[in-house]
Amino acid sequence: MSSKHPPHPPAAPEAPSDPMAVALGAAAQGAAAGEVPVGAVLLDAAGRILAVTHNRVEIDCDPTAHAEILAIRTASAMRQTPRLPDCTLFVTLEPCAMCAQAIAFARLRRLVFGAYDPKGGGVEHGARLFGQPTCHHQPEVIGGVREQESSVLLRVFFQSKR
Ligand code: ZN
Repeated sequence: MSSKHPPHPPAAPEAPSDPMAVALGAAAQGAAAGEVPVGAVLLDAAGRILAVTHNRVEIDCDPTAHAEILAIRTASAMRQTPRLPDCTLFVTLEPCAMCAQAIAFARLRRLVFGAYDPKGGGVEHGARLFGQPTCHHQPEVIGGVREQESSVLLRVFFQSKR
């Protein structure tokens, strides 16, 4: 075969078909490093990965080093802009209020998360940040994507800590 123009060119390798699988992989890496297993993937409008992160609270001795914050920081630094309005964030757990506010500040287009977090979430629970009048950007929100796998990672992690 020497055709230079295949009828169906393969998708770019950096555009994953299942970003939540990538986020779950990052969460598992975090757990192996002793972090609460939360993983995040930030994608541009074409579905290319800008950042893959997991929590680094213990590693960095930084209470703000949640996966979502680190993904936004990485992509913003790469693009040299504090606003990422074309981007979608996949994260394995419902973001806390701090991360929800960072998502609003970054003006992300869409948030996709895995497990709901009644104890610490700030999107569908607690602060319900995007519904507050003081929040000036509301991303599209899709929750419960591969919720079971994310929950199992967290449960196994916390069981191992007891
Ligand atoms: Zn957070």
